[in-house]
Amino acid sequence: MKVLLDDKIVERNEVKIDMEDRGYQFGDGLYEVIRAYNGTFFTADEHIDRLFTGAKKIDLVLPFTKNELKERLYKLMKENEIETGNIYFQVTRGIAIPRDHSYPDPIKVPAVFTASTTKVPRDQAKMDRGISVITLPDMRWLHCDIKSISLLGNVMAKHEAHKVGAEEAIQHRDGIVTEGASTNMWMVKDGVIYTHPDGNLVLPGITKIVLLDVARKAGIPVKEEAFTLEQLKNADEVFSSSTTIEAMPIVEIDGVKVNDGKRGPVVKQLQDLYVKAVEEVCGKVR
Ligand code: PMP
Repeated sequence: MKVLLDDKIVERNEVKIDMEDRGYQFGDGLYEVIRAYNGTFFTADEHIDRLFTGAKKIDLVLPFTKNELKERLYKLMKENEIETGNIYFQVTRGIAIPRDHSYPDPIKVPAVFTASTTKVPRDQAKMDRGISVITLPDMRWLHCDIKSISLLGNVMAKHEAHKVGAEEAIQHRDGIVTEGASTNMWMVKDGVIYTHPDGNLVLPGITKIVLLDVARKAGIPVKEEAFTLEQLKNADEVFSSSTTIEAMPIVEIDGVKVNDGKRGPVVKQLQDLYVKAVEEVCGKVR
């Protein structure tokens, strides 16, 4: 598998990241992941827009235009013959010596860009079956809207889940559900879908935008409103969303079954609507 280093396609083992790279030293950078179906990116522009928005928020000068970035990503995908899979890309604030917390001059220190791909087929059986999760306090910082490569809080939350055989961790601040370690979080109660509103406490998920849109168009009531752990545990259905897992049913929370441990009808409808939205752009989803 080849990778991108700045504007060049190279073998992965040819990439040497400088130990003074601010991504390595400070976690000073941003990342994104876009999913491709049948060799076509889904919602690429939205992901690229989010990267540019994040860069503006942290005064990171990106070394490409949106179109240049998209061209590079497509080039790598074609090179690696990705049909259904993910492309991850990150940008750091470059290599600055001597070490100094404050931002270097972006003219003297250009950002460093890398990208890699993985072939990942859809796991329909898992999307039918659903996953189990735990709940825990949200220990992260207060800029969760920025898709930072500093993921330690998210990594720790996911590890807590894996330690007890669960797949995701639902985080909460003082009993208010924010999001998963790598997913947005949703619940359904009395036919209404709820998810935490955008803001500084959650990542503005691209999958969330698509799900909100298809739900509204299908006439399903949606509320971008925060909910509590207690509401979550009394919900009719619970699910999470992300680019790589689409809409994933949650069938067990802290060892207690949701909806008899089975996928509910609303998330099933949303999964079908999501696939339809993908198929409009990328062709038949298998
Ligand atoms: N929240 C967090 C913390 C995430 O890491 C992700 C996945 N990148 C999401 C939400 C879902 O975002 P998206 O739908 O854009 O993949």
